Amino acid sequence: MAESKRDYYEVLGVSRDADDATLKKAYRALAKKYHPDMNPGDTEAEKKFKEASEAYAVLSDPDKRRQYDQFGHAAFEGGAGGAGGFGGFDFSGADFSDIFGDIFGDLFGGGRRGGRASNGPMKGANIRKGVRITFEEAVFGCEKEIDVVLKDPCQTCSGTGAKPGTSPETCSKCGGKGQVVYTSQSFFGTVQNVQTCPDCHGSGKIIKEKCSDCGGTGFVSSRKKIKVSIPAGIDNGQSVRIREKGEPGTNGGPRGDLLVEVTVSRHPIFQRQDVHIFSTAPISFAQAALGGDVRIKTVDGDVLYTVKAGTKTDTKVRLKGKGVPSLRNPQTRGDHYVTLVIQTPEKLSPEAKEALRKFDELTGNTLNQETGSPENKGKTKKKGFMDKLKETFEE
Ligand SMILES: [Zn+2]
Ligand SMILES: [Zn+2]
Repeated sequence: MAESKRDYYEVLGVSRDADDATLKKAYRALAKKYHPDMNPGDTEAEKKFKEASEAYAVLSDPDKRRQYDQFGHAAFEGGAGGAGGFGGFDFSGADFSDIFGDIFGDLFGGGRRGGRASNGPMKGANIRKGVRITFEEAVFGCEKEIDVVLKDPCQTCSGTGAKPGTSPETCSKCGGKGQVVYTSQSFFGTVQNVQTCPDCHGSGKIIKEKCSDCGGTGFVSSRKKIKVSIPAGIDNGQSVRIREKGEPGTNGGPRGDLLVEVTVSRHPIFQRQDVHIFSTAPISFAQAALGGDVRIKTVDGDVLYTVKAGTKTDTKVRLKGKGVPSLRNPQTRGDHYVTLVIQTPEKLSPEAKEALRKFDELTGNTLNQETGSPENKGKTKKKGFMDKLKETFEE
Protein backbone atom coordinates (compact mmCIF):
# COMPACT_ATOMS: atom_id res chain seq x y z
CA MET A 1 0.00 0.00 0.00
CA ALA A 2 3.03 2.23 0.32
CA GLU A 3 3.36 2.20 -3.45
CA SER A 4 1.10 4.78 -5.05
CA LYS A 5 -1.25 3.18 -7.52
CA ARG A 6 -2.08 4.60 -10.90
CA ASP A 7 -5.59 5.70 -11.62
CA TYR A 8 -7.57 2.87 -13.27
CA TYR A 9 -8.82 5.11 -16.07
CA GLU A 10 -5.27 6.26 -16.72
CA VAL A 11 -4.06 2.64 -16.77
CA LEU A 12 -6.55 1.75 -19.50
CA GLY A 13 -6.09 5.09 -21.23
CA VAL A 14 -9.80 5.89 -21.31
CA SER A 15 -11.87 8.83 -20.15
CA ARG A 16 -13.86 8.66 -16.91
CA ASP A 17 -17.13 8.34 -18.82
CA ALA A 18 -15.91 5.54 -21.10
CA ASP A 19 -18.65 3.00 -21.91
CA ASP A 20 -18.31 -0.79 -21.63
CA ALA A 21 -17.30 -1.29 -25.26
CA THR A 22 -14.52 1.29 -24.97
CA LEU A 23 -13.23 -0.29 -21.74
CA LYS A 24 -13.22 -3.74 -23.27
CA LYS A 25 -11.45 -2.55 -26.41
CA ALA A 26 -8.78 -0.74 -24.38
CA TYR A 27 -8.25 -3.74 -22.10
CA ARG A 28 -8.16 -6.21 -24.97
CA ALA A 29 -5.37 -4.21 -26.64
CA LEU A 30 -3.32 -3.98 -23.42
CA ALA A 31 -3.91 -7.61 -22.46
CA LYS A 32 -2.77 -8.80 -25.86
CA LYS A 33 0.34 -6.65 -25.68
CA TYR A 34 1.36 -7.58 -22.13
CA HIS A 35 -0.03 -11.07 -21.71
CA PRO A 36 2.55 -13.34 -19.96
CA ASP A 37 2.15 -15.96 -22.69
CA MET A 38 3.33 -13.39 -25.22
CA ASN A 39 6.14 -12.07 -23.00
CA PRO A 40 7.67 -15.04 -21.19
CA GLY A 41 9.91 -14.03 -18.29
CA ASP A 42 9.23 -10.31 -18.74
CA THR A 43 8.27 -9.16 -15.23
CA GLU A 44 7.60 -5.60 -16.37
CA ALA A 45 5.07 -6.85 -18.93
CA GLU A 46 3.53 -9.08 -16.29
CA LYS A 47 3.17 -6.14 -13.95
CA LYS A 48 1.52 -4.09 -16.68
CA PHE A 49 -0.78 -7.00 -17.51
CA LYS A 50 -1.89 -7.36 -13.90
CA GLU A 51 -2.37 -3.62 -13.55
CA ALA A 52 -4.56 -3.49 -16.65
CA SER A 53 -6.47 -6.60 -15.59
CA GLU A 54 -7.18 -5.16 -12.18
CA ALA A 55 -8.32 -1.87 -13.70
CA TYR A 56 -10.60 -3.68 -16.13
CA ALA A 57 -12.00 -5.99 -13.47
CA VAL A 58 -13.07 -3.00 -11.44
CA LEU A 59 -14.27 -0.65 -14.16
CA SER A 60 -16.20 -3.29 -16.11
CA ASP A 61 -18.30 -4.10 -13.06
CA PRO A 62 -20.91 -1.37 -12.49
CA ASP A 63 -20.93 -1.83 -8.70
CA LYS A 64 -17.15 -1.87 -8.38
CA ARG A 65 -16.82 1.08 -10.74
CA ARG A 66 -19.21 3.13 -8.64
CA GLN A 67 -17.23 2.29 -5.48
CA TYR A 68 -14.02 3.23 -7.22
CA ASP A 69 -15.43 6.53 -8.51
CA GLN A 70 -16.58 7.30 -4.99
CA PHE A 71 -13.68 6.11 -2.86
CA GLY A 72 -10.76 5.63 -5.26
CA HIS A 73 -8.27 2.91 -4.53
CA ALA A 74 -9.17 3.08 -0.85
CA ALA A 75 -12.28 1.07 -1.74
CA PHE A 76 -10.19 -1.99 -2.56
CA GLU A 77 -7.27 -1.69 -0.21
CA GLY A 78 -6.31 -4.55 2.06
CA GLY A 79 -8.17 -5.14 5.26
CA ALA A 80 -7.18 -4.20 8.77
CA GLY A 81 -3.52 -4.93 9.21
CA GLY A 82 -3.03 -4.89 5.46
CA ALA A 83 -3.56 -7.84 3.18
CA GLY A 84 -0.48 -6.92 1.21
CA GLY A 85 0.11 -8.08 -2.33
CA PHE A 86 -2.20 -6.39 -4.73
CA GLY A 87 -3.92 -4.41 -2.06
CA GLY A 88 -6.15 -7.29 -1.20
CA PHE A 89 -7.33 -7.62 -4.78
CA ASP A 90 -8.24 -11.23 -5.26
CA PHE A 91 -6.79 -12.52 -8.50
CA SER A 92 -7.60 -16.10 -7.64
CA GLY A 93 -11.33 -15.50 -7.80
CA ALA A 94 -13.31 -17.48 -10.31
CA ASP A 95 -15.17 -14.36 -11.35
CA PHE A 96 -11.87 -12.97 -12.55
CA SER A 97 -11.17 -15.88 -14.84
CA ASP A 98 -14.67 -15.37 -16.22
CA ILE A 99 -13.57 -11.94 -17.38
CA PHE A 100 -10.62 -13.49 -19.15
CA GLY A 101 -12.78 -16.27 -20.47
CA ASP A 102 -14.88 -13.62 -22.07
CA ILE A 103 -11.92 -12.19 -23.93
CA PHE A 104 -9.50 -15.03 -24.46
CA GLY A 105 -11.78 -18.00 -24.74
CA ASP A 106 -9.86 -21.15 -24.09
CA LEU A 107 -6.49 -19.47 -23.44
CA PHE A 108 -7.01 -19.64 -19.68
CA GLY A 109 -7.96 -23.26 -19.46
CA GLY A 110 -11.30 -24.91 -19.75
CA GLY A 111 -10.48 -25.79 -23.33
CA ARG A 112 -9.45 -29.27 -24.33
CA ARG A 113 -5.73 -29.56 -24.69
CA GLY A 114 -3.43 -32.00 -26.36
CA GLY A 115 -4.19 -35.37 -27.87
CA ARG A 116 -5.53 -38.12 -25.71
CA ALA A 117 -4.82 -41.74 -26.12
CA SER A 118 -8.42 -42.76 -26.34
CA ASN A 119 -8.16 -46.00 -24.39
CA GLY A 120 -5.53 -44.90 -21.85
CA PRO A 121 -6.51 -43.92 -18.28
CA MET A 122 -8.59 -40.74 -18.37
CA LYS A 123 -9.77 -38.54 -15.57
CA GLY A 124 -13.56 -38.33 -15.34
CA ALA A 125 -15.42 -35.16 -16.21
CA ASN A 126 -16.06 -32.53 -13.56
CA ILE A 127 -19.59 -32.03 -12.29
CA ARG A 128 -20.78 -28.48 -11.76
CA LYS A 129 -23.40 -27.61 -9.20
CA GLY A 130 -24.68 -24.29 -7.98
CA VAL A 131 -25.53 -23.32 -4.43
CA ARG A 132 -27.14 -20.13 -3.18
CA ILE A 133 -26.01 -18.70 0.14
CA THR A 134 -26.78 -15.55 2.09
CA PHE A 135 -24.54 -12.51 2.32
CA GLU A 136 -23.65 -13.40 5.92
CA GLU A 137 -22.92 -17.04 5.04
CA ALA A 138 -20.45 -15.80 2.45
CA VAL A 139 -18.82 -13.51 4.99
CA PHE A 140 -18.47 -16.06 7.77
CA GLY A 141 -18.44 -19.33 5.84
CA CYS A 142 -20.97 -22.15 6.11
CA GLU A 143 -21.66 -25.81 5.47
CA LYS A 144 -24.10 -26.88 2.78
CA GLU A 145 -25.40 -30.20 1.58
CA ILE A 146 -25.44 -30.67 -2.17
CA ASP A 147 -27.56 -33.26 -3.98
CA VAL A 148 -25.51 -34.91 -6.69
CA VAL A 149 -26.24 -37.87 -8.96
CA LEU A 150 -22.99 -39.84 -8.92
CA LYS A 151 -22.01 -42.74 -11.08
CA ASP A 152 -20.24 -45.69 -9.43
CA PRO A 153 -18.87 -48.90 -10.92
CA CYS A 154 -21.62 -51.49 -11.23
CA GLN A 155 -21.30 -54.16 -8.51
CA THR A 156 -22.99 -56.83 -10.59
CA CYS A 157 -20.48 -56.81 -13.44
CA SER A 158 -17.57 -55.21 -11.53
CA GLY A 159 -17.70 -52.33 -13.95
CA THR A 160 -17.07 -54.34 -17.09
CA GLY A 161 -20.59 -53.88 -18.47
CA ALA A 162 -20.72 -57.55 -19.49
CA LYS A 163 -23.36 -59.96 -18.20
CA PRO A 164 -21.95 -61.94 -15.24
CA GLY A 165 -20.30 -65.09 -16.54
CA THR A 166 -19.33 -63.44 -19.82
CA SER A 167 -16.56 -60.97 -20.49
CA PRO A 168 -16.01 -58.19 -23.02
CA GLU A 169 -14.23 -59.13 -26.22
CA THR A 170 -11.49 -57.23 -27.93
CA CYS A 171 -12.93 -55.03 -30.68
CA SER A 172 -12.14 -56.50 -34.09
CA LYS A 173 -12.48 -53.19 -35.93
CA CYS A 174 -9.64 -51.44 -34.07
CA GLY A 175 -7.88 -54.45 -32.58
CA GLY A 176 -8.48 -53.09 -29.08
CA LYS A 177 -6.71 -49.75 -29.68
CA GLY A 178 -9.92 -47.74 -29.58
CA GLN A 179 -8.84 -45.70 -32.59
CA VAL A 180 -8.89 -46.23 -36.31
CA VAL A 181 -6.59 -44.54 -38.80
CA TYR A 182 -7.99 -43.43 -42.15
CA THR A 183 -5.50 -42.63 -44.87
CA SER A 184 -6.45 -40.43 -47.76
CA GLN A 185 -4.66 -38.82 -50.67
CA SER A 186 -4.94 -35.09 -51.02
CA PHE A 187 -3.34 -32.21 -52.84
CA PHE A 188 -0.80 -31.98 -50.00
CA GLY A 189 0.12 -35.66 -50.06
CA THR A 190 -1.00 -38.53 -47.86
CA VAL A 191 -3.15 -37.43 -44.96
CA GLN A 192 -3.68 -39.61 -41.93
CA ASN A 193 -6.82 -39.10 -40.00
CA VAL A 194 -7.13 -40.67 -36.56
CA GLN A 195 -10.65 -41.21 -35.31
CA THR A 196 -12.30 -42.86 -32.34
CA CYS A 197 -13.38 -46.35 -33.29
CA PRO A 198 -17.08 -46.28 -34.26
CA ASP A 199 -17.71 -49.87 -33.12
CA CYS A 200 -16.38 -49.75 -29.54
CA HIS A 201 -16.52 -45.94 -29.09
CA GLY A 202 -12.90 -45.86 -27.97
CA SER A 203 -13.01 -48.54 -25.27
CA GLY A 204 -11.30 -51.19 -27.42
CA LYS A 205 -13.81 -53.73 -26.16
CA ILE A 206 -17.11 -55.07 -27.42
CA ILE A 207 -19.74 -56.33 -25.02
CA LYS A 208 -21.81 -59.09 -26.60
CA GLU A 209 -24.14 -59.70 -23.67
CA LYS A 210 -24.79 -56.64 -21.58
CA CYS A 211 -25.10 -56.60 -17.82
CA SER A 212 -28.78 -56.01 -17.06
CA ASP A 213 -28.14 -53.88 -13.99
CA CYS A 214 -26.13 -51.18 -15.76
CA GLY A 215 -27.23 -51.72 -19.37
CA GLY A 216 -23.65 -52.43 -20.38
CA THR A 217 -22.27 -49.08 -19.28
CA GLY A 218 -20.44 -50.56 -16.27
CA PHE A 219 -21.81 -47.79 -14.06
CA VAL A 220 -24.85 -47.26 -11.89
CA SER A 221 -26.10 -43.84 -10.82
CA SER A 222 -27.35 -42.91 -7.40
CA ARG A 223 -28.34 -39.68 -5.70
CA LYS A 224 -25.90 -38.68 -2.97
CA LYS A 225 -25.75 -35.89 -0.45
CA ILE A 226 -22.34 -34.30 -0.26
CA LYS A 227 -21.30 -31.90 2.48
CA VAL A 228 -19.57 -28.81 1.19
CA SER A 229 -17.73 -26.55 3.53
CA ILE A 230 -17.80 -23.05 2.07
CA PRO A 231 -14.93 -20.92 3.37
CA ALA A 232 -15.41 -17.52 4.98
CA GLY A 233 -14.82 -14.72 2.49
CA ILE A 234 -16.09 -16.51 -0.62
CA ASP A 235 -17.58 -14.17 -3.21
CA ASN A 236 -20.38 -14.44 -5.71
CA GLY A 237 -19.36 -16.57 -8.71
CA GLN A 238 -16.45 -18.31 -7.01
CA SER A 239 -16.35 -22.09 -6.81
CA VAL A 240 -15.40 -24.66 -4.20
CA ARG A 241 -13.67 -27.73 -5.61
CA ILE A 242 -14.29 -31.11 -4.03
CA ARG A 243 -11.78 -33.54 -5.40
CA GLU A 244 -12.86 -36.84 -6.94
CA LYS A 245 -16.61 -36.34 -6.52
CA GLY A 246 -17.20 -35.94 -10.25
CA GLU A 247 -17.76 -38.46 -13.03
CA PRO A 248 -15.74 -41.69 -12.74
CA GLY A 249 -12.58 -41.93 -14.78
CA THR A 250 -12.22 -44.46 -17.57
CA ASN A 251 -9.65 -47.22 -17.89
CA GLY A 252 -8.44 -46.72 -14.35
CA GLY A 253 -8.26 -42.91 -14.47
CA PRO A 254 -9.23 -40.89 -11.37
CA ARG A 255 -12.69 -39.42 -10.85
CA GLY A 256 -13.37 -35.87 -11.94
CA ASP A 257 -14.08 -33.16 -9.38
CA LEU A 258 -17.26 -31.60 -8.09
CA LEU A 259 -17.23 -27.84 -8.60
CA VAL A 260 -19.74 -26.02 -6.46
CA GLU A 261 -20.38 -22.53 -7.77
CA VAL A 262 -21.57 -20.11 -5.15
CA THR A 263 -24.25 -17.51 -5.77
CA VAL A 264 -24.49 -14.96 -2.98
CA SER A 265 -27.94 -13.42 -2.46
CA ARG A 266 -28.21 -9.67 -2.40
CA HIS A 267 -28.37 -8.10 1.02
CA PRO A 268 -30.97 -5.39 1.66
CA ILE A 269 -28.42 -3.10 3.32
CA PHE A 270 -24.89 -4.27 2.61
CA GLN A 271 -22.99 -4.26 -0.63
CA ARG A 272 -19.66 -5.93 -1.07
CA GLN A 273 -16.54 -5.17 -3.04
CA ASP A 274 -13.77 -7.71 -2.54
CA VAL A 275 -13.15 -7.76 1.22
CA HIS A 276 -14.94 -4.49 1.92
CA ILE A 277 -18.56 -3.86 2.80
CA PHE A 278 -20.45 -0.68 1.91
CA SER A 279 -23.71 0.62 3.29
CA THR A 280 -25.56 3.80 4.04
CA ALA A 281 -26.85 4.63 7.49
CA PRO A 282 -29.56 7.15 8.28
CA ILE A 283 -28.90 9.77 10.95
CA SER A 284 -31.31 12.40 12.18
CA PHE A 285 -30.81 16.06 11.53
CA ALA A 286 -30.41 16.67 15.26
CA GLN A 287 -27.74 13.93 15.57
CA ALA A 288 -25.88 15.48 12.64
CA ALA A 289 -26.06 18.96 14.09
CA LEU A 290 -25.33 18.09 17.72
CA GLY A 291 -23.13 15.03 17.31
CA GLY A 292 -23.50 11.90 19.40
CA ASP A 293 -23.75 8.14 19.17
CA VAL A 294 -25.50 6.59 16.20
CA ARG A 295 -26.32 2.92 15.79
CA ILE A 296 -24.82 1.39 12.63
CA LYS A 297 -25.65 -2.09 11.35
CA THR A 298 -22.64 -4.29 10.56
CA VAL A 299 -22.27 -8.00 9.87
CA ASP A 300 -21.09 -8.31 13.49
CA GLY A 301 -24.29 -6.68 14.78
CA ASP A 302 -24.99 -3.06 15.61
CA VAL A 303 -22.10 -0.83 16.60
CA LEU A 304 -22.24 2.59 18.18
CA TYR A 305 -20.39 5.27 16.27
CA THR A 306 -19.86 8.76 17.60
CA VAL A 307 -20.53 11.39 14.94
CA LYS A 308 -19.02 14.83 15.27
CA ALA A 309 -21.21 17.88 15.76
CA GLY A 310 -21.85 19.52 12.40
CA THR A 311 -21.65 16.30 10.36
CA LYS A 312 -22.74 16.81 6.76
CA THR A 313 -24.88 14.40 4.80
CA ASP A 314 -22.91 11.85 2.70
CA THR A 315 -20.06 11.86 5.21
CA LYS A 316 -18.07 8.64 4.83
CA VAL A 317 -17.04 6.65 7.83
CA ARG A 318 -14.70 3.67 7.96
CA LEU A 319 -15.28 0.88 10.45
CA LYS A 320 -11.96 -0.90 10.47
CA GLY A 321 -11.98 -4.68 10.40
CA LYS A 322 -15.77 -4.93 10.05
CA GLY A 323 -15.56 -6.15 6.46
CA VAL A 324 -15.16 -9.60 4.94
CA PRO A 325 -12.39 -12.04 5.93
CA SER A 326 -9.80 -12.59 3.24
CA LEU A 327 -10.15 -16.02 1.60
CA ARG A 328 -6.40 -16.50 1.68
CA ASN A 329 -5.92 -15.22 5.19
CA PRO A 330 -9.13 -15.47 7.23
CA GLN A 331 -7.51 -13.67 10.18
CA THR A 332 -7.46 -10.52 8.07
CA ARG A 333 -10.70 -8.69 7.50
CA GLY A 334 -11.59 -5.81 5.21
CA ASP A 335 -13.34 -2.66 6.35
CA HIS A 336 -16.91 -1.47 6.37
CA TYR A 337 -17.49 1.90 4.73
CA VAL A 338 -20.61 3.71 5.82
CA THR A 339 -22.14 6.75 4.17
CA LEU A 340 -24.10 8.76 6.72
CA VAL A 341 -27.29 10.17 5.21
CA ILE A 342 -29.20 12.85 7.06
CA GLN A 343 -32.92 12.14 7.12
CA THR A 344 -35.30 15.01 6.48
CA PRO A 345 -38.26 14.56 8.83
CA GLU A 346 -41.52 14.08 6.91
CA LYS A 347 -44.22 13.55 9.51
CA LEU A 348 -44.07 16.28 12.11
CA SER A 349 -46.27 16.81 15.11
CA PRO A 350 -47.45 20.41 15.73
CA GLU A 351 -44.94 20.59 18.61
CA ALA A 352 -42.10 19.45 16.40
CA LYS A 353 -43.11 21.98 13.74
CA GLU A 354 -43.16 24.70 16.33
CA ALA A 355 -39.73 23.65 17.58
CA LEU A 356 -38.36 23.80 14.04
CA ARG A 357 -39.84 27.25 13.45
CA LYS A 358 -38.28 28.34 16.70
CA PHE A 359 -35.01 26.76 15.62
CA ASP A 360 -35.09 28.68 12.36
CA GLU A 361 -35.71 31.94 14.16
CA LEU A 362 -32.86 31.29 16.55
CA THR A 363 -30.43 30.43 13.76
CA GLY A 364 -31.44 33.53 11.78
CA ASN A 365 -33.19 31.87 8.84
CA THR A 366 -35.95 33.92 7.22
CA LEU A 367 -38.15 31.28 5.66
CA ASN A 368 -41.35 32.84 6.97
CA GLN A 369 -40.73 36.20 5.33
CA GLU A 370 -42.29 37.02 1.99
CA THR A 371 -39.12 37.42 -0.09
CA GLY A 372 -36.44 34.79 -0.53
CA SER A 373 -32.82 35.54 0.18
CA PRO A 374 -31.18 37.80 -2.45
CA GLU A 375 -29.06 35.07 -4.07
CA ASN A 376 -32.15 33.02 -4.83
CA LYS A 377 -33.79 35.78 -6.87
CA GLY A 378 -34.08 34.88 -10.53
CA LYS A 379 -33.23 31.22 -9.90
CA THR A 380 -36.63 29.68 -10.49
CA LYS A 381 -35.58 26.15 -9.61
CA LYS A 382 -34.26 27.11 -6.19
CA LYS A 383 -37.17 29.40 -5.53
CA GLY A 384 -39.61 26.59 -6.32
CA PHE A 385 -37.89 24.42 -3.78
CA MET A 386 -38.04 27.15 -1.17
CA ASP A 387 -41.72 27.69 -1.85
CA LYS A 388 -42.45 24.03 -1.38
CA LEU A 389 -40.61 24.09 1.90
CA LYS A 390 -42.72 27.05 2.95
CA GLU A 391 -45.92 25.19 2.17
CA THR A 392 -44.81 22.30 4.29
CA PHE A 393 -44.17 24.56 7.24
CA GLU A 394 -47.34 26.59 6.87
CA GLU A 395 -50.02 23.93 6.46
ZN1 LIG B 1 -23.18 -53.97 -14.70
ZN1 LIG C 1 -12.98 -50.65 -31.66
